[in-house]
Amino acid sequence: MGVKLRISRGLLDGIVALASKTPGEEVCGLLLGLPPLAAAAPATAAGTIESFLPATNVAPDRARHFEIDPATLIRAHRAERDGGPAILGCFHSHPGGDPTPSAEDAAQAEANGALWLICAGPPWTASLWKAVTNGAVHGRFDPVPMIVDPGPSAP
Ligand SMILES: [Zn+2]
Repeated sequence: MGVKLRISRGLLDGIVALASKTPGEEVCGLLLGLPPLAAAAPATAAGTIESFLPATNVAPDRARHFEIDPATLIRAHRAERDGGPAILGCFHSHPGGDPTPSAEDAAQAEANGALWLICAGPPWTASLWKAVTNGAVHGRFDPVPMIVDPGPSAP
C-alpha cells in the first residue's frame, strides 16, 4: 500500500490528446519510467511515469477493446533489457465511457502489479490503477494516487 506515481501535466495531457483525437476507438500504449521503490520506503516512495509509447490497437473491435501491438511490446522489452526505461504498465482509453476499469479489463489483466492508466471522455479525465490479486475493482484493480507535477513533460 501507499504506492504513488508521479506524472507531469504535459505527459498526462499528451495521453489525453491522443485519446481525444481518436474518439471512436480505444487508443493504447505503454507507460515507461521509474518504478516505485517500495522496498526502500513503502509509505512515501513514488515512481515516475517519464514517457509513454503509443501502440497500434490490434484488437478486432477497436471501438470497445484494446490489444497492444505485440511488436511494440517486444521493442519496449528489448529496450528495457538494454538499459532503457522500465515498462511500468499500459494506458488505454474508454471513448464515451468512464475512467474506471471495465470487467473486460479485469479479465484481460494479470495480477502482476502493472499500472493501468485509463482515460475517458469527453470531458476527458484519467485515472491510474494497479493490477493486483483481490483488488477493490472487479477483484483485480486498486486505485493508485497520481501526483501530477506542473509543467511540460521531459523531452
Ligand atoms: Zn478498458
